[in-house]
Amino acid sequence: MAEAAALSVNWDVIVIGAGAAGMMCAAQAGQRGRRVLLIEHYHVVGEKIRISGGGRCNFTNVNAGPANFLSQNPDFCRSALARYTPTQFVRLVESYGIAYHEKKLGQLFCDDSALDIIAMLKSECARGGVQWRMPCAVDGITREGDRFVVATTHGSVRCSSLVIATGGLTVPKLGATPFGYRIAEQFGLAVVPPKPALVPLAFAPDALARYGDLSGISVDAEIACGEARFRENLLFTHRGLSGPAILQISSYWNGRAPLAINLLPGLDATMWLREHALSAARLDNVLAEGLPKRLAQRWCAAHGVALPMSVLGEGRLRTAGAQLNRWEVLPSGTLGYNKAEVTSGGVDTRRLSSKTMAATTVPGLYFIGEVVDVTGWLGGYNFQWAWASGHAAGQVA
Ligand SMILES: Cc1cc2nc3c(=O)[nH]c(=O)nc-3n(C[C@H](O)[C@H](O)[C@H](O)COP(=O)(O)OP(=O)(O)OC[C@H]3O[C@@H](n4cnc5c(N)ncnc54)[C@H](O)[C@@H]3O)c2cc1C
Repeated sequence: MAEAAALSVNWDVIVIGAGAAGMMCAAQAGQRGRRVLLIEHYHVVGEKIRISGGGRCNFTNVNAGPANFLSQNPDFCRSALARYTPTQFVRLVESYGIAYHEKKLGQLFCDDSALDIIAMLKSECARGGVQWRMPCAVDGITREGDRFVVATTHGSVRCSSLVIATGGLTVPKLGATPFGYRIAEQFGLAVVPPKPALVPLAFAPDALARYGDLSGISVDAEIACGEARFRENLLFTHRGLSGPAILQISSYWNGRAPLAINLLPGLDATMWLREHALSAARLDNVLAEGLPKRLAQRWCAAHGVALPMSVLGEGRLRTAGAQLNRWEVLPSGTLGYNKAEVTSGGVDTRRLSSKTMAATTVPGLYFIGEVVDVTGWLGGYNFQWAWASGHAAGQVA
């Protein structure tokens, strides 16, 4: 990207927010020959990319499809995802010689550093002659005929296409703001209430007292909430539950219904326990064959079944077996935006074109990336949405 020396007032396209979606969109529009200005209020670009995937950026998922996204309008993401696929992004990554690997479940990570992806996007912006202002705050946006006037701390700039790519509310210390939602509302678009998603969950006080010191213990579990179901690792923390299975299910949790946790997935726990029904060993010792010992002890104590198998009896054995396959836990809440990976909800898609991301009621206004009510699963899906929606808008803005 080139710093605008004598900054023009008039632009074809202004993109606000230099994250994943904003940089992709700016690069695409610039490479089409549009005069593009990218405005970022933070002092660095792509901070979420930098910290993503433990510093290695899980930049896409080879299996990404509409079924991996939550939205009040589940079909909305279909068109953009189909027109800019994981394969296309991988080709771009390969064209920059960035080495990558599949970790698991189709998740692609950089071998070296997430900074490679940021450098690639900056370079793509430079190829499109994108100019930028950073750090630069936007004070307000008004409409003047068919153009937008963007008032910034460095003066006013004008454009015919305005792209809002300011992301969600997660990790506020890295520049997240509700700016995009406010602009949507200003122009008469509804906003689906945002909430933290892909986020650890807190134990209620009684569960915290029982399980809080199991922090660090991880088990393979299947967790269900309504129709959603994920089998991955479940991690006990000093505040509650985390790990991929919990992060995934958190996006579906409504804050009221208990989660159903299967601690012995793939196993009929009652049948298994019956094999030990005559044993003198205590249930927690039997369970320690399939679960970490301390978890087995705490779980049995909490359920009043830390007893020898031979004295449990068929009734209690059956109840314990059922509860091991369906341990109901009602979290007290999430750990909030500071610990969430994404924000679910956002600009309501009913007034956006699924092909271009343009507001159907405000010609020239576009919303892309996480600010839109499209939320991906854990595993590279959110970046794929950022690339695909940024690409869609970048082809027409
Ligand atoms: C810890 C963590 C790890 C993650 N790991 C992954 C991962 O491995 N894979 C994956 O797919 N997803 C991951 N995500 C999610 C992913 O980072 C986001 O979904 C993605 O970055 C969204 O892209 P975006 O461009 O829409 O928004 P952002 O990347 O959030 O970019 C928005 C930009 O807008 C700027 N901005 C905000 N308000 C204003 C304003 N008023 N004026 C000007 N600029 C503004 C922000 O400073 C920011 O630069 C992770 C998220 C977190 C927090």
